[in-house]
Amino acid sequence: MKSLKNYIISFVQGLISLLKGMRITGKEFFTPKVTEQYPENRATLKPFDRYRGELVLVYDENNNHKCIACGICQQNCPNGTIQIISSKITTEDGKTKRVLDKYLYDIGSCTFCQLCVTTCPHKALAFDQKFEHALFTRSKLVRQLNNRTTPNEENRQ
Ligand code: SF4
Ligand code: SF4
Repeated sequence: MKSLKNYIISFVQGLISLLKGMRITGKEFFTPKVTEQYPENRATLKPFDRYRGELVLVYDENNNHKCIACGICQQNCPNGTIQIISSKITTEDGKTKRVLDKYLYDIGSCTFCQLCVTTCPHKALAFDQKFEHALFTRSKLVRQLNNRTTPNEENRQ
């Protein structure tokens, strides 16, 4: 008999607690939003100028980047975030030249310290202002930055 009484008391207490919680939830549900507009303002949202979003190779108007595959950014990155894959080609005048095959960047391990950008001797790197990086698959965090076919690369094919 005593346990039934305890059961009924705890049931009523639980119900009162649930109703209190639902009252607050219901009130907040109908309260207009007053602070954040994101993601409704995604199209017009602009981060501050020095915001570091994602590392990118800088391309000119002819789709050429300035990277000479020297590997300095890879050496200076404290996290092993950058992997430069390069090869050697022979130019028309018979000289040997190193060229970039793949510039791989793992944003999942980047600390956005910008050492790579500041130490690149050719000013080939920059940070863009993308801020939405969420993904379902970790492997997609590795990006190939030389993702455009340049006139030079077309000639090599
Ligand atoms: S991005 Fe700059 S530092 Fe890195 S490999 Fe290319 S030229 Fe060298
Ligand atoms: S910002 Fe820093 S951690 Fe990220 S790739 Fe460049 S050097 Fe590496």
